[in-house]
Amino acid sequence: AKAAGRNTQRLFDPSMQAALLARSSLEADLRLGLERGELFVQYQPVVNHRGQILGAEALARWRHPERGMISPADFIPLAEQTGLILPLGRHVLRTACLQLVEWADDPQAAHLSVAVNVSARQFRQPGFVAEVLEILAETGANPRRLKVELTESMLLGDLECTIDRMEQLQHEGVGFALDDFGTGYSSLSYLKRLPLDQVKIDQSFVRDVLTDPNDAAIVRTILALAQSLDLVAVAEGVETTGQMGFLRLHGCEQFQGYLFGRPGSAQALQALLHAQP
Ligand code: C2E
Ligand code: CA
Ligand code: CA
Ligand code: CA
Repeated sequence: AKAAGRNTQRLFDPSMQAALLARSSLEADLRLGLERGELFVQYQPVVNHRGQILGAEALARWRHPERGMISPADFIPLAEQTGLILPLGRHVLRTACLQLVEWADDPQAAHLSVAVNVSARQFRQPGFVAEVLEILAETGANPRRLKVELTESMLLGDLECTIDRMEQLQHEGVGFALDDFGTGYSSLSYLKRLPLDQVKIDQSFVRDVLTDPNDAAIVRTILALAQSLDLVAVAEGVETTGQMGFLRLHGCEQFQGYLFGRPGSAQALQALLHAQP
């Protein structure tokens, strides 16, 4: 009876109950939000060493009718836990492909590529390759303009299966980037075996690259590694010309960050593009 009493008390711990309620209501809201079209996509430019726009990363956004903008840091993990990442990911991929088709009609934008984040859970679902191919066919997007960003958590699963799926899409022209590189589990032997085109240097290393010798060493090492494995290195979170200078000096080829443009609408990206010399 005493144990039961304790359990009851734990079950009705008010702070825990509040957290559970908040989570389940956010989950219900996310489900509804997906149906109601509250989720949309913003594009952040990716540039070369001259600052010319090569493409954009598609980033999911959620404008909740009462709570306003909710950060991906809050709704992406929830979507991953609940499986809602599957419809969400499909929506982002489809939107990005439709955007590619629109850009293809604008001579100034026709060269742009788009990078889409794909979570491990989404990538591992059996129908993933078929789904991507179906969306490409249905929208008419050029597969060569599509990049898929995978994180190192992918490597915790069946490596052969991961490689096989990547190769099926690569065969159609789709490119792959390893996202948040350096923060996860990757071992160098994996890096060599995966059919990757790019590694993205996590912004946590870029932030203090000019002041923290450890971060500077990590960034230089990643850049040297990318070069020797023939991968294009993309630096994330570039906010200053000083950071850009360091990255360029050590061989980084592509850059993304507030220095070049914040995530924004497709029209905002097109305006940036047209303003370029
Ligand atoms: P990420 O893939 O590493 O995306 C880059 C994040 O850095 C974005 O945050 C972007 O807004 C932010 N960022 C870009 N430049 C700068 C900068 O100069 N300074 C700083 N401080 N931050 C910068 P965001 O949009 O909040 O997205 C957070 C994460 O949510 C993403 O990190 C990605 O892991 C995830 N995410 C976003 N959209 C999707 C999606 O459609 N599917 C999946 N699976 N994950 C997504
Ligand atoms: Ca990313
Ligand atoms: Ca990243
Ligand atoms: Ca990141």
